[in-house]
Amino acid sequence: KERTFIAVKPDGVQRGLVSDIISRFERRGYKLVGLKLLVPSVGLAKEHYADLSSKPFFAGLVDYMTNGKAPVVGMVWEGPAVIKQGRVMLGATDPKAAGPGTIRGDYCLTIGRNICHGSDSAESAQKEIELWFGGRGEV
Ligand code: ATP
Repeated sequence: KERTFIAVKPDGVQRGLVSDIISRFERRGYKLVGLKLLVPSVGLAKEHYADLSSKPFFAGLVDYMTNGKAPVVGMVWEGPAVIKQGRVMLGATDPKAAGPGTIRGDYCLTIGRNICHGSDSAESAQKEIELWFGGRGEV
């Protein structure tokens, strides 16, 4: 069964969008198999965004995810094509390119505050579920 890691980032939590994001996945028919509220450690955030470590915005991104002004909601969702369809439901990474009806297209405007994260491949999903949930995929 296919699983993906979806996170509501601190801006999404702070703005009260957790229930809407969960609701969209539930109504689509996906199954929630893991859920946790946490302020990630710097180590966790750096590992999660390891691919971006050379980018100029990396330090700001890690600080934003970990400074505790608001927590992150990490989730594991299961169901047919959930990795690809989860990304479709989130919308384009840059909200300026995200269409209406997507989470980012409906709720945000800037890439640095784009509300949510979704694994972009089977390999990323496996790695991220391991990283955020210790591999169990559920807690
Ligand atoms: P995500 O992993 O969040 O779903 P993605 O994999 O589609 O996004 P990446 O290019 O890996 O996109 O970027 C990961 C995250 O880094 C983005 O969601 C965004 O929060 C942040 N980010 C990317 N580009 C920028 C930028 N130019 N300025 C600020 N933050 C950025």
